[in-house]
Amino acid sequence: MDLFEHQAKELFAKYGVAVPRGKVAWSPDEAEAAAAEVGGTVVVKAQVQIGGRGKAGGIQLAKDPAESMPRIRGHTVRRVLVEEASEIAAEYYVAILHDRASKGFLAMASAEGGVEIEQVAAEQPEAIVKVPVNPLVGLRGYHVNQLVYGANFDERARKGAAQLLNRLYEVFLAADCLLVEVNPLVLTTGGEVIALDGKVSLDDSALDRHPDLEALRDTFAVDPQEQAAKEKGLNYIKLDGYVGIIGNGAGLVMSTLDVVAQAGGKAANFLDVGGGASAETMADGLEVILSDDKVRSVLVNIFGGITRGDLVAQGILDALDRLGDKVKVPLVVRLDGTNAEEGRALLASSPSDMVVPAATMLDAARKAVELADTKAGA
Ligand code: GDP
Ligand code: MN
Repeated sequence: MDLFEHQAKELFAKYGVAVPRGKVAWSPDEAEAAAAEVGGTVVVKAQVQIGGRGKAGGIQLAKDPAESMPRIRGHTVRRVLVEEASEIAAEYYVAILHDRASKGFLAMASAEGGVEIEQVAAEQPEAIVKVPVNPLVGLRGYHVNQLVYGANFDERARKGAAQLLNRLYEVFLAADCLLVEVNPLVLTTGGEVIALDGKVSLDDSALDRHPDLEALRDTFAVDPQEQAAKEKGLNYIKLDGYVGIIGNGAGLVMSTLDVVAQAGGKAANFLDVGGGASAETMADGLEVILSDDKVRSVLVNIFGGITRGDLVAQGILDALDRLGDKVKVPLVVRLDGTNAEEGRALLASSPSDMVVPAATMLDAARKAVELADTKAGA
């Protein structure tokens, strides 16, 4: 789970990481009031979870904070962070993250802050100093020195940056983060070192240790299908196509996405109902997919192992029953493996004309794409 910038900064502030004074606003009126409260020149920062807001017009040194930024690169802006503007002398980059390769942590610093770090990594990798940190040892003075001296931070920034790194490491540990990143970390003309931006990725599997952070999720603009899927315990990811996909096993679902692409279609989602898919899971999954009105056909691709084909078929029939005339798009079903025969027979007995059987995966994908195209009048 990624925090919004303002949430990351609130977390930073709790641990003494210096951040600009600011206030979140949910409407132009609130933004105006926040600007008056913060005082002086303010920056208005769109709170959307994409990088490069600066370039996309999502950061404005505002004379008029009520000026709204309704959409940025397809993301709806529901709130802005109104902050006192900083006068920047230098922009740096620092981050602490998990490093799979060393099975430890990695601290990074660069004097090339304020630009996308991926770009720096590609164009001048030597400008990023990387220091492995053994979690059992922790972030020590010598690590911090390697970072601030290694990355050539301005002399005036060293002390502040060192202190900020130590506190950032506390945040990283305390909140079970996968990543904390500050880009840019700035040296102000007044000689202060502050986190002008903040990115925090939390480890979802540790969230039950952090009810306060988990609660932040409620304030997220969650996609309705993803929300419903999560409540039902389904492994669902929304994509931007129009062929709904259900399969059992991540590998099979991935291949299903591939064959749909091969057949000229675009998948609407990824949904893995797992190894022991029950009739209920199947019905839940279909319900989630069918509630997405971009979906014009659904491809159910099940290879029975532990999962039994007849139970899957029953799940499809249950879903059809449960959803009634909410089912407005065809379901192409390919069943194979354990009890596939029985499953197919069950489906054939369905009074619904929405179920379309298919013999192979590719055949199923072609049918699903064709039916989706017909539906679109293409
Ligand atoms: P991002 O583009 O989404 O990473 O958003 P950032 O918060 O990192 O801001 C992008 C850039 O906007 C920064 O690198 C700064 O150059 C500029 N910026 C942000 N806040 C201020 C500010 O208070 N004063 C000034 N002068 N520039 C700012
Ligand atoms: Mn940034």
